[in-house]
Amino acid sequence: MSSRNLVVLGSTGSIGRSTLDVVRRHPERFRVVALCANRQIDRLFDQCVEFDPLYAVVGSEALAARLGERLRAASRATRVAWGEDALVRAASLPEADAVMAAIVGSAGLPSAFAAARAGKKILLANKETLVMGGEVFMRTVRENRATLVPIDSEHNAIFQSLPPAYSGDYARHGVEGLVLTGSGGPFRTHSRAQMRDVTPEQACAHPKWSMGKKISVDSATLMNKGLEMIEAHWLFGMPVDRIEIAIHPQSVVHSLVRYADGSVLAELGNPDMRTPIAQALAYPERIASGVGALDLFKTAPLCFDPPDFERFPCLSLAYRAIRAGKNAPTVLNIANEVAVEAFLDRKIGFCEIFEIIEAVMDRVPPLALDSMDDILAAGDEARRMSFSVIGERIASLRSDLQ
Ligand code: NAD
Ligand code: MG
Repeated sequence: MSSRNLVVLGSTGSIGRSTLDVVRRHPERFRVVALCANRQIDRLFDQCVEFDPLYAVVGSEALAARLGERLRAASRATRVAWGEDALVRAASLPEADAVMAAIVGSAGLPSAFAAARAGKKILLANKETLVMGGEVFMRTVRENRATLVPIDSEHNAIFQSLPPAYSGDYARHGVEGLVLTGSGGPFRTHSRAQMRDVTPEQACAHPKWSMGKKISVDSATLMNKGLEMIEAHWLFGMPVDRIEIAIHPQSVVHSLVRYADGSVLAELGNPDMRTPIAQALAYPERIASGVGALDLFKTAPLCFDPPDFERFPCLSLAYRAIRAGKNAPTVLNIANEVAVEAFLDRKIGFCEIFEIIEAVMDRVPPLALDSMDDILAAGDEARRMSFSVIGERIASLRSDLQ
């Protein structure tokens, strides 16, 4: 289960950079064999110069040509490729032991599946893969004897708090249930009326975690906790009604596991993603991550509250989706992705994110999904429907104004 030769998918993002920060501290332990990103080639160039990977992947042919030229001028032998096929090849490189799957959104699904098919150790940050196709993905991991270590801080905390040989059969291990904690996001104490006019900047200013824009907005709507509930269901084989959610503004307790004897085990720490990343990279060993020691005397008191489904209705949509099963979580995920992007582009308001996802879920009929291609096709249909719902709204808003 070595992480020695590492591929980083999404290396220029928040998780990707935190991963390289941990790797940088342990040059004797890890070797970066591929770095993959989309458009930020200046940052990717610097990373290639520092880590000297065999391969780099970018989002377009033009960017690949530019990056390749700069690397040659810097006397680097890194080979540059572009596009989804290249991401899939990078995720299944024979030279690679472990793959950090940290592309944001549904764009990360084909490469995460490729890593599973190639039997790699998968460090899974891309929760959208599990939301869109959890059943098929977990089957692919099992059939190819891949190893899955969750990076999402809550799931990594649960992973650490479960018995080491946990098989997914919770009853056999005396596990009663899981508690997912969440900070409550930047609008934890806002009324629905106050949320109506919030800006993308306010939504992205997370009080505790520094993250990419999409997951920051998901944290503000609490959709993130809904996606994480679905993620936990598939990762740990846990029925949805055994997964509780607790709003915990201090973000020190990263999640908990309840046992039959009344014991509750949890993982605590400062809110910094380098802790779960280092845990997953070194597992089952422990290495330094650069995260400072938790000062217990400065963190008290720790508070826990139930989530408010009225003010944060996106959370209810996630429950609706996982209970409906089939393509419903895929539709939820894609409609959310499109709506969040429209909000970040200032085309819709914050509260419309929920309304759009609900409208898309109402319109797309149920369909069973048995393969990755089925999941991608269901995603494409949901994306078309999401664009048409947003288009109709914008058109009706314009005619109201005329
Ligand atoms: P980010 O926006 O900071 O970075 C996204 C990365 O994905 C970038 O490197 C970008 O180049 C790459 N990317 C985007 N589209 C791509 C495409 N089509 N092809 C190739 N690369 C592409 O996002 P992030 O905050 O690092 O989040 C990454 C994933 O990790 C998400 O799924 C998120 O839910 C999950 N996650 C993040 C955090 C966090 O603290 N940031 C915590 C838990 C889970
Ligand atoms: Mg999380």
